[in-house]
Amino acid sequence: MFKKIASAINAAKERKRKEKAAIEKKARLEELRKEYLRYEFPKSIGVSLSEFECIYRCRMCPQYSDEYRNILNSRKIMDFETFKVIVEQIPDEEGISVEISSMNETLMCKDLEKYISYFKERRPKPMVVIATNGRLLTEERAKSLINSGLDVLSFSLDAGSKESYKWLCGSDDYELVCENLLRVVEIRNSLKLDKPKVQTHIIGIKELSHEFGPFVEKWSKIVDFANVRNYGNWGGLVDDNGITPMDKAPEKRYPCAWLWCASKILSNGNVVKCFIHPYSNGGILGNIKEKSLKEIWKGEKVAALRKLHENGEYSKAELCQDCNVWSLFPDIWSDDGGEK
Ligand code: SF4
Ligand code: SF4
Repeated sequence: MFKKIASAINAAKERKRKEKAAIEKKARLEELRKEYLRYEFPKSIGVSLSEFECIYRCRMCPQYSDEYRNILNSRKIMDFETFKVIVEQIPDEEGISVEISSMNETLMCKDLEKYISYFKERRPKPMVVIATNGRLLTEERAKSLINSGLDVLSFSLDAGSKESYKWLCGSDDYELVCENLLRVVEIRNSLKLDKPKVQTHIIGIKELSHEFGPFVEKWSKIVDFANVRNYGNWGGLVDDNGITPMDKAPEKRYPCAWLWCASKILSNGNVVKCFIHPYSNGGILGNIKEKSLKEIWKGEKVAALRKLHENGEYSKAELCQDCNVWSLFPDIWSDDGGEK
């Protein structure tokens, strides 16, 4: 008798536990959908200040190939007036992040700090991020970036040793860039500032996997955030560069959340689907000097791309067929949000 009662109590407890887990799972999925399905305005906006040949030639970047570099052989730089137009089109809201970068090394743009300061004066709430390989981050540059109002400095150290840095980026400057990273953190700390937050990463590819642990352990003690960055293959543009992703993309493909949450603006004001589309105009969605970013975001071209993904017609969208970046976003489409 007692056994029966105990077993009924246990069954009821188990039922409650399962119900609670299902409710929590549903809430997590709803949060994810709220985060990634941004029909009104993207949550993440990339602004490319320039497109031309980089000082580096990294294997995980389209700049590795001569073909791509030849396409970028004429210098394209965003003028300040174009940047001002962009700034006016971005709402002053928390929860939006703006990555000011370049399709080369970001610090090659000498006026970068002027652009960042202008943005933060006009729009204090969105988070401004820059990504740099840090090679040109001198003491003077570190101070001016800290003073610019920058929120996050994403320092692409990319590798965990001199040897792998040489293999990955073709440069002998690993020790120098490590010193540059240490120095910018020291300067910020000596000024008793908590901004910019400084983060760094190692690229998540098999060839570097033996360095993941020591890298994260070392740099976590120095910067605000250090991790292994999931490797994206740039729509297949870097597949021939001798690097191996850690994991295969899942067999069951789902729509790429990029199309619902992120946007990219090039130096001439063109808004592009995701990456810089060097080979054709197929990925150009509009120009912010003719239409606002919001209008472009809610326009027919973006809607048509989303439809292709919803219908599984990935090969009809430029670069999407061979891309693995969709798998780096959560599967917000299935009922379990991709959770096992
Ligand atoms: S530094 Fe950046 S832009 Fe330049 S080649 Fe390397 S990854 Fe590409
Ligand atoms: S899957 Fe398509 S939309 Fe998504 S990042 Fe790759 S190329 Fe861009």
